[in-house]
Amino acid sequence: MSNPCPHTACGGCSMTGMPYDEQLARKHTHLKSLLSAYGAVLPPIGMADPYHYRNKVTRTFASVRTDRKQFAAVSGTYAAETRRVIPIDACAIEDLGAQKILQTLTALCVKLKIRPFDPRSGQGVLRHAQIRVGAATGEYLLTLVTASPQFPGRGNLVTALRHAHPELTSVVHNVNGFDTGMILGDERRSGHENRVLFGPGFIRDTLCGLSYRISPQSFYQVNPRGTEILYQTAIALADLRPTDTLLDAYCGIGTIGLTAAAHCGRVIGVELNPDAVSDAIANAKHNRITNARFYRGDAGKFLSEHADLTPDVLIMDPPRGGSDLPFLGAVCKRKPKKVVYISCGPDTLARDLKTLTKEYRVETIQPVDMFPMTEHCETVCLLSKLNAKQHIEINLDMDELDLTDAEKKATYQEIKDYVLEHSGLKVSSLYIAQVKQQCGIIERENYNKPKSEDAKQPQCPPDKEKAIKEALKHFGMI
Ligand code: SAH
Repeated sequence: MSNPCPHTACGGCSMTGMPYDEQLARKHTHLKSLLSAYGAVLPPIGMADPYHYRNKVTRTFASVRTDRKQFAAVSGTYAAETRRVIPIDACAIEDLGAQKILQTLTALCVKLKIRPFDPRSGQGVLRHAQIRVGAATGEYLLTLVTASPQFPGRGNLVTALRHAHPELTSVVHNVNGFDTGMILGDERRSGHENRVLFGPGFIRDTLCGLSYRISPQSFYQVNPRGTEILYQTAIALADLRPTDTLLDAYCGIGTIGLTAAAHCGRVIGVELNPDAVSDAIANAKHNRITNARFYRGDAGKFLSEHADLTPDVLIMDPPRGGSDLPFLGAVCKRKPKKVVYISCGPDTLARDLKTLTKEYRVETIQPVDMFPMTEHCETVCLLSKLNAKQHIEINLDMDELDLTDAEKKATYQEIKDYVLEHSGLKVSSLYIAQVKQQCGIIERENYNKPKSEDAKQPQCPPDKEKAIKEALKHFGMI
């Protein structure tokens, strides 16, 4: 594979130019070195198309002196660990439509004589630009960041941009007077509110069938296609029941909990950032989800202080630095039957597993590659409570790696979906495994055995057995 990235100095991606299979293999090796002590690390789930997945694209503007001693605008990114702007017009991971709009913007700034801001002299206007894309809706939001509230030429600029890019659905003006390394200025700190120059001031995107409003400052996952795979993996591993209370800790704008809400009794979300909590509440409302509540607070404090909160299942998705002892301690005390830990920092995941495995057993470690071309990778880890009195169903996806020919014909999820569609019955993986065993499709001893000696294993009722057998026949497995 030739290297699709012409830039070497931006420092953003360390794996471009490497075949994608090799990138995944390297990530797998790295994750195994950190996590194998806790269980088998499955091969990472990769993206079908690993390019141009980034839905948030930013550029910093700078002036360069041309041969004719004139100034021209360039837009790019800071060279790694410096404040020197290197021009970027092609990038292997950014959304292509966003790149085109930013190229037009740079050319228009030259044409309309809108000068880039120079932090050394304090002269000039345009500091940064940011595009956010609704990958599923095709909507584009451009935020123009200037160093001061004055923005001469903005009307002509927006008109010309809209003419060239009808896909641009909104343009916002943000003021950032500080050289903090942040792209967008903080409206509260600067006292300058974002000003909508065109459109509604936000875009919408659809993630796992739900609609989200994304404003310039909103937190939103940067790889929406990868995020869907990540959430589906996490929710499948959580194997929620209709009566379950799910705690979505470190919930951001509520995307995981809201996606899971249809599969469980109720969702409680907790998040430190007040803006994200407001977004989560608005997202629940917009999607007419009535069984989810979101709270602002430190996850550890929240769980310790709410003694009445006894979640059946916990999905936790902390920042790269991982969780902390107050939260992990409260989890070990409150003992939800399952914990699904989503991590973007494998070393802190390994650290936190050390604490959690005092009360929990690691069942599945499934990496999901959300960040092709970079060294980063998400990991979803399913843990189940040790010495459970109740039966805990083990996840079967892992076993599906070692399938007999008959088994390969349909996954557990496909069988569940078929049964639900044709008989209206919800069946668990355990029941499917029991019927498979009965039909001689699987022989392995360890399938869905209870985790502790005194656990009771429910038996598949006859109506469900009949429906599962019909599905097995349909898929040609018996
Ligand atoms: N689950 C969300 C967000 C994950 S990012 C998603 O999938 O989009 C991690 C989140 O944890 C951030 O939103 C951050 O604000 C929040 N956070 C960081 N420290 C926290 C703490 N101590 N308690 C609760 N939330 C915290």
